[in-house]
Amino acid sequence: MKVVLQNLTKIFPNRNKKIKTGVTAVSNFTYEIPDGKLIGLLGPSGCGKSTTLYMISGLEKPTDGKIFFGEDDVTELSPENRGVGLVFQNYALYPHMTVKQNILFPLQNLKGAEKLSKNEMLKRTVEAAKLVQLDELLDRKPSELSGGQQQRVAIARALVKMPRVLLLDEPLSNLDARLRLQTREEIRRIQRETGITTIFVTHDQEEAMSISDEIVVMKTGTVQQTGAPQTVYDDPVNLFVAKFLGTPPINVFAGRISGGNVMIGDDAIFAVDGEEDREIWVGIRPEGFIPDINGKLGCELQSIEVMGRDISVVSKNEASVNPVIRSIIGSDVTVPNSGTVRFRLKPYKVFLFEKNTENRIRTELKPL
Ligand code: ATP
Repeated sequence: MKVVLQNLTKIFPNRNKKIKTGVTAVSNFTYEIPDGKLIGLLGPSGCGKSTTLYMISGLEKPTDGKIFFGEDDVTELSPENRGVGLVFQNYALYPHMTVKQNILFPLQNLKGAEKLSKNEMLKRTVEAAKLVQLDELLDRKPSELSGGQQQRVAIARALVKMPRVLLLDEPLSNLDARLRLQTREEIRRIQRETGITTIFVTHDQEEAMSISDEIVVMKTGTVQQTGAPQTVYDDPVNLFVAKFLGTPPINVFAGRISGGNVMIGDDAIFAVDGEEDREIWVGIRPEGFIPDINGKLGCELQSIEVMGRDISVVSKNEASVNPVIRSIIGSDVTVPNSGTVRFRLKPYKVFLFEKNTENRIRTELKPL
């Protein structure tokens, strides 16, 4: 089931009645989610992710715009009639009910033509439990399950009604690091097996990048960029997106274009054609640095952190916006012990941005 969002906008009334303008939580969100894909809705706290999800679910009414499931305009439909499965961060399970009863519960409320026989309900419950690998634990109570297992009950409960669209709002936030990793892989597997179009909200870029077919990066209610995770990482449209994706984060420098060269401090790092002299931001991904005594960029070495396969070279440069520069380098590369370390830079890991708009400057970086 493809999901189409057309100019979706949500403005909440301001609590302070004296202020006439409302709070714009989501502004003009237009996007087509292809059938059967998993989409990661990503952005910092307050950027409008949950509001978007609630509008898709029907829990919030858009101020403007339309939502289609396939060819059906569902904008005015109630949540019950949309056929969505919802899983929240605080997946409240009924503590007095067993796993089986918890999963089965939504089926008991079906009315009219949708009403199921007891046998059919049980069959669907067992199928959903199998999908999340809980079929051995059907008679347990939630208190007898781990956090990850509880979360899987919540997912099974959302799946049992065979939703057209599955909506997950920070479903892993309450789990510890290891369980998060396991459960996100589970979600990916379940999504692939069922083929249900799924929208996954998270502020964790790594989580979104690792399981999504496509990501949508949001900032203060507006979509910044959409695309396959690797494409967005490799080709960010602006400084915000470049900074939001990647761990360790991109290294940002206050630089300038001067006489056809890209400068960081006194170091000319690349040549560019046809660009006016001006101040800019230079972003360099941690994996874009190669230690080289003839490298164009000089930094003051601070420390070297060994990470096994790679090492992280921590250095400083006066033009760096981040307190330190982190570069990730293969552990077989030799780096000086102290003093200045010089880096050659991989041009496809270096991005230039306008100083004021922070939009990407798309120009070819030529070696000097
Ligand atoms: P988080 O990751 O913290 O959950 P989010 O990206 O999901 O954040 P939303 O919950 O969608 O963000 O909120 C977007 C904006 O809308 C925020 O500025 C928030 O304060 C505001 N907002 C959300 N709900 C309401 C409401 N009911 N009334 C007024 N403002 C609201």
